[in-house]
Amino acid sequence: MAPSIDPKFKADSALHDLPTPEPESPYRPRQPYRFSTLCATVENPSQKDQYGSSSVPIYQTATFKGIGAEYDYSRSGNPTRSHLEHHIAKISSAAHAFAVSSGMAALDIILRQLKPGDEVIAGDDLYGGTNRLLGYLKAHGGVTVHHVDTTKPSSLLEYIKAGKTAMVLLESPTNPLLKICDLATISANVKERAPDAVIVVDNTMMSPYLQRPLEHGADIVYDSATKYLSGHHDLMAGVITCNREDLAKQMGFIINSAGNALTPFDCFLLLRGIKTLAIRMDRQQSTAMQVANMLDRLGFKVHYPGLASHPDREVHERIADGYGAVLSFTTGDKALSERIVGATRLWGISVSFGCVNSLISMPCVMSHASIDPATRAARGLPEDLIRLCVGIEDPADLLDDLERALLEAGAITLSAGADEHRYVRASHPSEGSAISRAVEKLAFNDAAGLGYMKERHQEDREWFVSAPGKVILFGEHAVVHGVTAIAASVDLRCYGLTTPRHDGKVSVHFIDIDNFKHAWEVDDLPWEAVTPVGVGGEHPESLDLKLVEAITSRALPSSIPPKAKQASTAFLYMYMVQAHGGVRPSFNFSARATLPIGAGLGSSASFSVCAATALLLLHQRISIPPLPPPTREGRPGEPGHIHVSHQGRRAIEPKIAEEVNRWAFVAEKILHGNPSGVDNSVAVFGGALAYTRAGFGKKSGMDPIQGFKSLRFLLTDSKVPRDTKSLVAGVAVKKAQEPELVNGIMDLIQSISDEARRALADPEMSRESLISALSALIDENHQHLVSLGVSHPTLEAIRAKTASNPYNLSTKLTGAGGGGCAVTLVPDHFTDSDLNDLIAALSSDNYDPYFTLVGGSGLGILSPYNQPQASARKQLAPITPPETPGEQTNGTEEEDALPESLGAAFETSSTTELGEWADARGRWLFV
Ligand code: PLP
Repeated sequence: MAPSIDPKFKADSALHDLPTPEPESPYRPRQPYRFSTLCATVENPSQKDQYGSSSVPIYQTATFKGIGAEYDYSRSGNPTRSHLEHHIAKISSAAHAFAVSSGMAALDIILRQLKPGDEVIAGDDLYGGTNRLLGYLKAHGGVTVHHVDTTKPSSLLEYIKAGKTAMVLLESPTNPLLKICDLATISANVKERAPDAVIVVDNTMMSPYLQRPLEHGADIVYDSATKYLSGHHDLMAGVITCNREDLAKQMGFIINSAGNALTPFDCFLLLRGIKTLAIRMDRQQSTAMQVANMLDRLGFKVHYPGLASHPDREVHERIADGYGAVLSFTTGDKALSERIVGATRLWGISVSFGCVNSLISMPCVMSHASIDPATRAARGLPEDLIRLCVGIEDPADLLDDLERALLEAGAITLSAGADEHRYVRASHPSEGSAISRAVEKLAFNDAAGLGYMKERHQEDREWFVSAPGKVILFGEHAVVHGVTAIAASVDLRCYGLTTPRHDGKVSVHFIDIDNFKHAWEVDDLPWEAVTPVGVGGEHPESLDLKLVEAITSRALPSSIPPKAKQASTAFLYMYMVQAHGGVRPSFNFSARATLPIGAGLGSSASFSVCAATALLLLHQRISIPPLPPPTREGRPGEPGHIHVSHQGRRAIEPKIAEEVNRWAFVAEKILHGNPSGVDNSVAVFGGALAYTRAGFGKKSGMDPIQGFKSLRFLLTDSKVPRDTKSLVAGVAVKKAQEPELVNGIMDLIQSISDEARRALADPEMSRESLISALSALIDENHQHLVSLGVSHPTLEAIRAKTASNPYNLSTKLTGAGGGGCAVTLVPDHFTDSDLNDLIAALSSDNYDPYFTLVGGSGLGILSPYNQPQASARKQLAPITPPETPGEQTNGTEEEDALPESLGAAFETSSTTELGEWADARGRWLFV
C-alpha cells in the first residue's frame, strides 16, 4: 500500500481551518476556528469512527485483513497514525504531515533527499543532535555543510548557489541562546537565488501554536514532538509537515522503506497531548516572561525574545505568535551556575524541554556536551549558561523556588537598602571564575575575528619528563585483606620525551614495548566519540568506554602487540579527552624505562605519569612558571623568589602534581582496569606511603610517610612468571579453611607495617637502628608470606644467596603477582665490592638484579629554562622563553650554548646509561 499521505489533502491550508459549522448568513459569516479549538477538536471527516468514540482508538495491530483495503500493514499506514497526521497537518497550515519515531528520525528522513555533491547551509547554533547528523553526512555522504550565522540573513548570501545549494536548515529561536533567525527574509532570498533549494525549519522551540514556518516560505517543517506537542515527556516522536506534493511523496516513501513511522500507541499519546497544546503553551510562556523579568531585574544577562533587551525581538514578533517557554541566563561563574542548578527543588535537572514540569539545566555539561568545548566557545556558548524550560506549575512557586536557589547558591543577596526589590545580585560577571572567563575570552576573540586558535602559542619545546617506579616494602597480599601496605618509590624510572612535529600527526615510540612506533593523522582520530574534559575539570570516575572502543577499533593498527595496544590506547585517550580550545598539538612522544617492565615495580604507573604529564604540558593545561630573577646580593627574599632547593625537589607545585596524578590514574584504569592508585601516587609524589584498602571496617586511605629516608635496595627480578589472581585466590582459600591461622598472620603483618611506618618516620631513630629494624621486619614479613603459600623456590634461592656469607642481607618477595621479584635491603656499611660480587652472582644465576635507592623524588620535569625552542635551534633566533632573566648572553654564546635535540640520544643511549644521561641534560624540577 502507498505510504500514509492522505490523498484528500490538497496544497490548500484553508481546508484545515475547520470553518464553524453554521451556514453562512448575512448576519454571521463563517469563521475559521481559533487555534486552541483546532487543537482540542480531533476530527477527520473521512475517518469517522464506526462507534462514534470520542477519543481516537489505538489500532494496536501490525496487519489488516483483506486485499486492496485502505490499510494492510502498519509500517505503511495505520488508522491511529492517519488521525494524528491529519490533526497535525490541520494545526500546522500544512497539506501533508508525517508522524515518526523521534525528532532526529524526522530530520534523517528529510536529509535523505540529499545526494553526494550537494551543499547544505545550516545555522551555526543548531541543536547538538542535528550537528551530529550533519557531521555524519559530511563524513560519509559526500555532502558539504556550511555553518553560518543565520541571525544575519546577509551571511547566507555568499553560500546560496543555484544548482548547488540543495537545502537550507534553520532554527528559530535557537536553543539555548534564543537567537532569532528571520525565516521569511531568508526563505525569500533562497527562493530568489536557488529556487530548487529546499528550506527546512526545525520548529521544536515554538510548536505550530506559536510559529508556522510554512506560512513564511519554508518547504518542510519538523518538530521534535517529544517536546511541546506531546507536553508530558512520556514519549519520543517527530513530526514533519509540508505543502509540496513532490517532497511529501519522497518522504512518505522513505518512511515506508525505513520503517520509522510512529507506533499506534505513541500516536494515541501524542494526539492526546496535542489537544492541550495551546492551553499549556499559554501558561508556560506567560510564566517564562515572569521568570525572565525577575532574572533581568536582578541583573543577570537573560536570553529571551520577550525581553525588550533582546536584539531581534522585533524580527521574532513578525514571524511568531509568542515568545515560547525556554529562556537562558548567565551568572559569570560556572561553579555558581552549578550551585544554582543544584539548589533548585521544583525545577527538575534534566535535558529536553516542552514538558508540563519545569526543568533547569546547564547546556555545556548536559544537552550540548557533545559539541566540543572549542566549538562551544567559538559559538559564544558560555560555560556558565543556565537554561530554564518553564512548565505549568503555579508561577509563584516557580519564582519562589528559583529565588531561593539563587540565594542559597550565593548569586543574590538581600538588599541592604530599602530597595523595592528584596534581593540584589551578589556578584558581578567580571568576578567569574578563571575558567569561564577564559572560555568567554576565547569566544570573544573569535567574535573579534582573531580566531581562538591564536590565543594559544605553538609548543616548540621538547619536554623531558620522568617518574619513578615503586616497590612494596611490606604488606603485599595482606593488603587484599585490609592490612596496611608500605609502598615507596625507586630511582629506576620511566622517561618520556616529546618532540614537536607540526605535520598534523601525533606519534608514539615505546622503546621498551616491542620498540613500537606509530603515527596518527590527528584529524583522523575518532573525535566524534570524545567527550572532552574542560580545562580545570575532572575526568569522570568511570572511563568513557565508547571512546576506548572507538580508539581500539578505529585508530590502532590491527597487528599491534597487546602491551603496545594498551599503552597507545591510554595515550590517545588522554590526548583526545584533554584537547581543548580547538588545538590538537602535533608531536612525538617517546618513552623508555630503566625499570624492568611488567615485574610489578610500577612500570606502568610511571609510564602513565610520564604520558599524563607530557600531554598536560602539550595541551597547556599545566605550565611550569617562569623562573623569577635570581635574588641579588644584599636583597634576600625579593618578592617572587622561588627556592629551587633539594636538587629541584618540591619545585613542582602540589597543584600540578595532583592534576598529573588524577590523569595518570585515568591512564592506569585503561592499563589495569581497576587500579588502587597506589602506584601512580608513588610515581607522582615519590617518597613512601602507607596504603589501606577500603572495607574491613576501614576507609581507603593513602598517607605519605613524612621524613622517609632514602635507603639502598637491591631488586632482583626472578623472571618467574606469577599469576596474581591465582595467588590471591590461594590465600583466600587458605583463609576460608584456616581462618584463625590466616587472620593471625594478617594481624602480624599489620603490626610489621605499623612498626616499619613508625621507624621510617621517626626523626629520632639513628640510621643504623632503622636499617637493622627494617632488616628484621623484612625477614619476618617474608616468613609470613611463606606461611601464606605465596613464595616459590626461585625466590627462596635468591633469598638464600643474599643471606649467605659474606653478605648476610635480608630479603623478601615483592613485585609482580605479589612476588615475582626479591627486595633486599642494602645497609650503608655494605661495601661496593660486596655489592658488585652479589650482583655478579645473581646475574650469573640468570636473574636480573637492579641496584636502586628507595624513597626518592617523584615526578620530574627537565626545566624548560635551559632549553631553546626547536625553531630557535634551527634559526638561531633568540630563545623564548628566555634563560632565567638577568643572565645575559651574547649571540655567539647563545649559539654555542644551543644543545642538540634530545630525541636521537634519548632513543639510542643504553638503558644503564639512560638515568645518568638524563640527569646531565640540565636542571630537573621534581615534585
Ligand atoms: N530539534 C531540537 C531543537 C531539539 O531540541 C531536539 C531534542 O532535544 C531535537 C530536534 C531532536 O528530537 P528527538 O530527541 O525527539 O529526536
